[in-house]
Amino acid sequence: MHPSKAMGRIAASRTTAITDLATSLRAAGRDIISLSVGEPDFDTPPHVIDAANDAMRAGQTRYTPVAGTAALRAAVADMFTQDMSIAATPDGVIITAGGKPAIFHALAATLDPGDEVVIPAPYWVSYPEIVRYCGGEARIVPTSQSAGYRLSAMQLADAITPRSRWLILNSPGNPTGAIYSADDLAALADVLRAHPHVMVLSDDIYRPIRYGDAPHASLAQIAPDLADRVLTVNGLAKSHAMTGWRIGYATGPQWLISAMAKLQSHSAGNPSSISQAGALAALQGPQDFLTGWVMHFARRRTLVCGALSAMPGVVVFPPEGAFYAYCETPDLIGKTTPDGNIIGDDEALCRYLIEEAGVALVPASSFGGENGFRLSFAASDDVLDQALKRIGAAFARLG
Ligand code: GLU
Repeated sequence: MHPSKAMGRIAASRTTAITDLATSLRAAGRDIISLSVGEPDFDTPPHVIDAANDAMRAGQTRYTPVAGTAALRAAVADMFTQDMSIAATPDGVIITAGGKPAIFHALAATLDPGDEVVIPAPYWVSYPEIVRYCGGEARIVPTSQSAGYRLSAMQLADAITPRSRWLILNSPGNPTGAIYSADDLAALADVLRAHPHVMVLSDDIYRPIRYGDAPHASLAQIAPDLADRVLTVNGLAKSHAMTGWRIGYATGPQWLISAMAKLQSHSAGNPSSISQAGALAALQGPQDFLTGWVMHFARRRTLVCGALSAMPGVVVFPPEGAFYAYCETPDLIGKTTPDGNIIGDDEALCRYLIEEAGVALVPASSFGGENGFRLSFAASDDVLDQALKRIGAAFARLG
């Protein structure tokens, strides 16, 4: 017996695999600091927990409509319309069991074998894997640190072919924290207007976590004439520290939302009724705690970027949003460990760090980058401080 051909085209998520490895090493008694997964270390706000509790006690423990409860779809439509200036109706919204299934269902509902998806690199690990699983081809377009890790209009124009079905944008981006400005998006929109067969998946999950003053820009907002070709994805995992609740949502053209719901009717069935009740409270309740959280992230960003950039061989990109420090370390590749092993690539570098320093990071190559790593600074100052000391000491031992 063997898995399907589709399974043979994909690897397990590297972010979650490294985090699982860190958890099992810790369970085995090793002293491991995991800065691998992107997960806020704050607690879910109490009013969200109370709402979920109340919902359970009130009997909201049964199936909900496939695309989500009417109340939550209305609240999400309101959020897209009011906060993001993307006109949305409740029928044009789907609630999913996390942001990931929204992306999965959108691609599975639209890709035929050989269809291409343009993905700027570095990218979030799951985009190309989902594309490949669905029989599509990921057309990876590298971006550089000097270009702010943003896809240019010229690169987009070059990457589009008659087989292109989607462009995936992610701003603020994982793993780099790069942000597309309104002007950047307007330039991409100009290219897209000339290619009406290309849709855009705009993953805005990190929208609330930004370090500059510029308002967040999203393609369907900047180019409303393209809105019927854009699926905008968002969720509460990062903004409300609700990673385990598994609630994401998306808005886009009705035919696509309906197709995604059809798939969801045969997969998750519906997102958890209890989580949906919590999500409703999250959207309708106070948002002011977020300012404090972003201030914490900003302080940690300064701490982490300062310490990393002081390490010889480490070039860090100061993130404009999200909570990752993405570093390029070409000068560390080829160095020798105290045991005499050569650091052949960034996987070996991260393996060395976990073994030698007890710090788990994700290699840049997992994100389609090279010779570097991603460090999540969604951890306490003390933990970060200790991890940075260990990383610095381990790098200093390389010969
Ligand atoms: N998006 C987060 C990360 O990149 C969560 C893990 C995952 O699903 O990849 O760390």
